[in-house]
Amino acid sequence: MEKWPVGVFTSIDAGLGVDLSVAKEIGISTVQIHAPHQGNRTAEHAEKILARLAEFEITVTAVFGGFEGESYADIPTVVQTVGLVPPETRSRRLTEMKEISDFSKLMDCDVIALHLGFVPHQQQSELYKEVVEVTRDLCHYANGNGQALHLETGQETAEALNQFIDDVGEQNLFVNFDPANMILYGTGQPIEALRALGARVKSCHFKDANWSDNPGETWGTEVPLGEGAVDIQKYIDTLKEIGYEGPLTIEREIPEQPERQKQEIGQAVKLIERCRS
Ligand code: MG
Repeated sequence: MEKWPVGVFTSIDAGLGVDLSVAKEIGISTVQIHAPHQGNRTAEHAEKILARLAEFEITVTAVFGGFEGESYADIPTVVQTVGLVPPETRSRRLTEMKEISDFSKLMDCDVIALHLGFVPHQQQSELYKEVVEVTRDLCHYANGNGQALHLETGQETAEALNQFIDDVGEQNLFVNFDPANMILYGTGQPIEALRALGARVKSCHFKDANWSDNPGETWGTEVPLGEGAVDIQKYIDTLKEIGYEGPLTIEREIPEQPERQKQEIGQAVKLIERCRS
C-alpha cells in the first residue's frame, strides 16, 4: 500500500457510512468498515463485498465491531452501554467480536477494531482486571486469525490508555487514534495525546470537533473536517513525526444523502491532500 492513502469509514449494511460508490467517485482507495449484522457475516456475503470492493479498487484496512444496545446519547450512557466494559453483556459481545474476527479473515483484513468502552481508572479494581482479561482473550483470538486489535481512542486519556495496553501486554494490541474523540470526551489535547501514544497508533480517524463548555461532563460538538479545534496540518505533521504511514481515514456520520456526502467528504479529501503534500 502507498504511504498515507486517504480512506473513509463506511458501512456495508445500510447505515450511516459513506456509500462505496461515493467513495470511489471522490478518489478514495481505502475504507474501514462497520462489521455487518450477524446474519450477514457469511463467506458468501464476504465474497460479494470483496467483489464490489475490487470493482471500485478499494481495500479494507479495518473492520470495526459494534453492538446492539450501545448508545452514545451522552457520556454517562456511554459508560453504561458501550463496548466490552459493561459486565452484563460482556461475554455475549466477546463472542460476537470473535465472529467479527472470523468474518474479517474472510474479508482478507488483518485489523479488527472497536470502542472498548470506558475502562475503569482504578487499576486495582475488579472491573479493571476483568477488562484487561477480556481484552487479552480477544487479542489471542485475533492473533489466531493473523490479526491485530485496534482500540479507538476517546474514552481515556492517552496516559490511561498506555497504561491499559501495558497491563494487557499483548503484541497485537494497538490504537486507532481519533483526535476529535479526545475533544468530544474532553480527555486531552489531541496532538499531545498522539505524541504520547506514538508508535502504538496503527490506524487513525480524520474527524473534527469543538470542545464542550464542560469537558468530560458533556459532549463537545462534531463538525466538518477543518472547521473544529483539531489543527489538521499539525495532526498530519505529528503523524509524520511519530512515524505513522497507514491510511488517513475520514470518519463522518452523515445520513445517506449521496450529494451531501460527496460534497462534505470531497472537501475533507481536498483538505487532507493539501496538508499531506
Ligand atoms: Mg473515530
